[in-house]
Amino acid sequence: MLLQFIQGTYIIAGVLFILSLAGLSKQTTARLGNIAGMVGMGLALVATIVHSVYLSAEGEASGARLSVWLTLGLIVAVLAIGAAIGIPIARKVEMTQMPELIAAFHSFVGMAAVLVGFNSFAVPGESAGGAVHLVEVALGVLIGAYTFTGSVIAYLKLSAKMGSKPLTLPGRNWINLFGFVLFFALMIWFVLAGEQNPTLGWILIIAIAVIGFLLGLHMVAAIGGGDMPVVVSMLNSYSGWAAAAAGFMLDNNLLIITGSLVGSSGAILSYIMCRAMNRSFISVILGGFGVDTGTVAASDAEQGEHREIDAAGAAELLWNAKSVIITPGYGMAVAKAQYPVADLTAKLRAHGVDVRFGVHPVAGRLPGHMNVLLAEAHVPYDIVLEMDEINDDFAGTDVVLVIGANDTVNPAALDDPTSPIAGMPVLEVWKADNVIVFKRSMATGYAGVQNPLFFKENTQMLFGDAKDRVEDIIKDLGNLA
Ligand code: NDP
Repeated sequence: MLLQFIQGTYIIAGVLFILSLAGLSKQTTARLGNIAGMVGMGLALVATIVHSVYLSAEGEASGARLSVWLTLGLIVAVLAIGAAIGIPIARKVEMTQMPELIAAFHSFVGMAAVLVGFNSFAVPGESAGGAVHLVEVALGVLIGAYTFTGSVIAYLKLSAKMGSKPLTLPGRNWINLFGFVLFFALMIWFVLAGEQNPTLGWILIIAIAVIGFLLGLHMVAAIGGGDMPVVVSMLNSYSGWAAAAAGFMLDNNLLIITGSLVGSSGAILSYIMCRAMNRSFISVILGGFGVDTGTVAASDAEQGEHREIDAAGAAELLWNAKSVIITPGYGMAVAKAQYPVADLTAKLRAHGVDVRFGVHPVAGRLPGHMNVLLAEAHVPYDIVLEMDEINDDFAGTDVVLVIGANDTVNPAALDDPTSPIAGMPVLEVWKADNVIVFKRSMATGYAGVQNPLFFKENTQMLFGDAKDRVEDIIKDLGNLA
């Protein structure tokens, strides 16, 4: 009876996770989606704890399992350690550090799958054993190990503790191919001999883990620059598959459902992002493709002169404009400028100016980054448009405000086939009558490439912190009103 209740709770949690994903697909239902996910996770946690205690109670009489109290004590201790580490991190993390935090969390999922794999080989459950179980263990350990080191490298790159440039070893694709062939050979050996000869089994499974660790290191180190957003969502997908593999090993249906949901939604997101950036999915995950011919960014001197504008000049241009498009980027997140930007938008709209936002699919440092910030500042959803919806409207727009964006508005992506970001669709802001770029210096963006937009005749630079400059403009608008 209790077991049926637990399985029923798992199914309800699974349905809530699916509803959560459906809800998160639209801004208007995202809050409900989050609540569905939280309730599902709460139910899953309670059911799992009850399940473990039930199994202990059942096995306690025969001495086969830990006592109920020890099981409960271990669960509480693990929850307390996790909370003691997680709560302070979650409290102090900045929105701009979210991608690196997510990458770090994915590494834990990967490591957990490796440990579950080792444990499941050492102490197979009652229904486990046999060739299928050993294949599950080998796959779970490989995916988990790959996810662990891959996520650590992604964390180091995203937090700028390691350069974002791709590592391109000679013959790197052959190295990867050799790694996978070796894995398959070891897996077959492990399945054939692992159970009869446990010592050999341990040597083989540890060797499989080492191959996974090395492949994760090498393949993610080979991905760089503008392709990093895809890596974040791809590692998300791998962490899902690692969890699903752990679900098979532990015979836990909910873990299989949840892992598959995370794995497939991450894979779909990676594919959509690749399409948005005009990259081939395969070449992104194999890494380093097309970078051999990359050129060094031209220096400022080669690009020509740039023009500057002050806040008062920008305010005057905006006050006299009929149509304005704002294209935010990573710098808006760093400066936390979304609140004054929302304020500026409201003031201009009240004056009768048509203000809209153009959001690039990879603006910022995580998928949907700009949408989250704008929603946080209560910018109405209906004036926040995707790149495809607004790209034809720049021609004929009076003023474009590029607030802390750089790579996502770089015309070299379209004009210069040798640019490292060549082929990536960008917001074609330069087609507007006037472009004002908010940034602190002439420095490059994430991909490290110079931006010819800054040197175009209709572009003016407004230097300084984006939040301070937008606030200055709001003050100056007050003088014009
Ligand atoms: P970029 O990273 O290209 O440029 C951001 C610009 O913001 C910089 O040039 C910087 O110039 C400026 N900036 C930084 N701080 C401030 C501040 N306080 N005030 C004003 N300006 C500031 O941003 P984009 O959003 O255009 O492009 C995103 C890039 O990140 C792409 O290359 C994308 O591939 C990559 N990426 C995206 C991910 C995603 O999922 N969205 C994940 C990982 C990477 P300065 O220093 O002169 O101020």
